[in-house]
Amino acid sequence: MRILMTGGAGFLGSNLCERLVRNENDHIYCLDNLQTGRMENIVELMDLPNFTFIQHDIVEPIDLEVDQIYNAACPASPPAYQEDPVHTWKTSVLGILNMLELARKNDATLLQFSTSEVYGDALQHPQNEDYWGNVNPDGIRSCYDEGKRAAETLCFDYHRMYGTKIKVIRIFNTFGPKMNPADGRVISNFVNQALRGEPLTVYGDGKQTRSFCYVDDLIDGIIRMMNSSPEILGPVNLGNPEEFTILEMAEQVKSQIKSKSEITFHLLPKDDPKQRRPDISRASELLGWKPQVPVRVGLERVIEYYKGLMT
Ligand code: UDP
Repeated sequence: MRILMTGGAGFLGSNLCERLVRNENDHIYCLDNLQTGRMENIVELMDLPNFTFIQHDIVEPIDLEVDQIYNAACPASPPAYQEDPVHTWKTSVLGILNMLELARKNDATLLQFSTSEVYGDALQHPQNEDYWGNVNPDGIRSCYDEGKRAAETLCFDYHRMYGTKIKVIRIFNTFGPKMNPADGRVISNFVNQALRGEPLTVYGDGKQTRSFCYVDDLIDGIIRMMNSSPEILGPVNLGNPEEFTILEMAEQVKSQIKSKSEITFHLLPKDDPKQRRPDISRASELLGWKPQVPVRVGLERVIEYYKGLMT
């Protein structure tokens, strides 16, 4: 099979490439514009005969012969996607348009990496796929949230109009190796701050919650979804329902690293969702999937990874 992985040098994309190349009968085309993706994430794959890297921005069309498309291209960390909000929106909306055209032309299956951000500052807890969300259309997170919502719409419209084979997953907070230590996400920040003996920066009072999935579990769910029967379109939530307040996460990281760093409190970014936990009944029913790695174990692995980058 010829598999296109957009955003293939990013955190999730490179973890997925690493898993997919193990099947030597498949050829992986890893596409990335390197805006937030990093060559060091894929350096070990570059010499493999079934791996090709293409530097390209999906905002522009591309012509390739492929059977499956994983569309992960888009900066996902709030500071990264807010740096150039216009380009973030283009990446989600023009990007998916180009990828859907490619899928349609090749009769390929396209799996869209959507996000828990489509639920916005959710008024329903936990969030299941039937919840329509509570999203500010004009705020600083909107370029990402509304871009991803519009991308979902286009996927389903292509399916309804042209019968394009689509699948949509909504990814909740994920952590693990290959996330840039400077990404700005909460776990990468806390672990790196604690390892350097710096204060852990909690935004707001730290009572807001997130649920954290270890990357290997997520990759397993994504591959199951791609290879599920064609009538399974989604959206399907993928995430680990283990929920923490951000302050609890800071304490957890400190205790696992045995760090004496203090915890400092900073301004809460605008429109920061108050609580987030996936209802994963649909993934469990349709894909037989649920996370296997407890957050504590995932944290051990990611601590080792970031320690390794420091030496
Ligand atoms: N956060 C924090 N300190 C940091 C980075 C993030 O307190 O150094 C908070 C952030 O305000 C949010 C939560 O942690 O409430 C998760 O943030 P992240 O950027 O990881 O993901 P997202 O907001 O997209 O869920």
